[in-house]
Amino acid sequence: MASFPLLFDLGPHKPTTRDVARTVKAGGTAALTEAERRADQARYQEVTCRSALNRVQGMPFNWTLNPYRGCTHGCHYCFARRYHVQFEMDSDDEFASVILVKHNIVSVLSRELDRPSWTREQVAVGTATDPYQPIEGHYKLTRKSIEALTRGRTPIGLVTKGPMVVRDIDVLLEQTRAAGCTIYMSVPTVDEEAWRLLEPGTAHPLQRLRAVRELVDAGINAGVLMAPIVPGFSSSRGKLERTVKAIADHGARFVGCNVMYLQDGTRTHFMRFIEQDFSSMLPRFEKLYVKKYPPDKYRKEVQGMVRVLQQRYGLTKREDAEDADDANEMVVKDPEQVGFAW
Ligand code: SF4
Repeated sequence: MASFPLLFDLGPHKPTTRDVARTVKAGGTAALTEAERRADQARYQEVTCRSALNRVQGMPFNWTLNPYRGCTHGCHYCFARRYHVQFEMDSDDEFASVILVKHNIVSVLSRELDRPSWTREQVAVGTATDPYQPIEGHYKLTRKSIEALTRGRTPIGLVTKGPMVVRDIDVLLEQTRAAGCTIYMSVPTVDEEAWRLLEPGTAHPLQRLRAVRELVDAGINAGVLMAPIVPGFSSSRGKLERTVKAIADHGARFVGCNVMYLQDGTRTHFMRFIEQDFSSMLPRFEKLYVKKYPPDKYRKEVQGMVRVLQQRYGLTKREDAEDADDANEMVVKDPEQVGFAW
């Protein structure tokens, strides 16, 4: 069995994500002997990153930044669950309980932003995991990254479910003035039962909406992504309307929506979750999710319903959406929707 000394010596060096993957493959997550267990029972493994800005394709943005991998918010529908498999960890409990912390991301980012070739394109923060999950309170890597992006005069869009974002209103205002900043608060639904069942580690939806109110009042461009709307859990007309109304009541500058899609490891996890806790719903999910997305008809029906509700409550579509299809899509290019039949 191969061993990777960096993980076992408590020296100044930290493993790379590749080192972590090799170690876990050889000995499971128990082999991450440096990973620190904190009060939330998650284990945090510091890693050394070689790059901070990641180039992506097929998205409405070209660059992403993620200080953490894995997310203790543990949403069952999370599209990022599948990424944990890259580190030889599973998309179930390990996604939410073994978090990789890129301890050197700020210095690496600063170097990348200083390159003459950097064209100051917009950077999407928090596309793979939440940049304001609880551990950010300790490391402040998201805050320091935003400060670096401000110095580099690089605009950002940031997606989160973490009300902790209001801690950084001062740096977000600086960022707004220097280059531009949009905060996308993810609030798929205000329905308490759906929230408890689907997003076990997140703050209450109304707490998130109060954070939106605070951001907007401070002068920061902040809105809400109802993403994802989960058929059968948050797709009824009544739940959609309560959510859109609450979003409007909290002064969101815009709203977008997106029906859940299931891919690879996320699909495996979500279907297992349904099978274990809601077995009677399994046949309906299997029928609806023959492919990655539910049928177009379903998605467009939901999309149409949300548009009507947006108009009723005076909310605008996502401000940077250029066409009708973009209007209900937030972070990823293809999905849209809102739903109803279920
Ligand atoms: S907060 Fe976002 S990144 Fe974290 S588990 Fe939920 S959907 Fe995934």
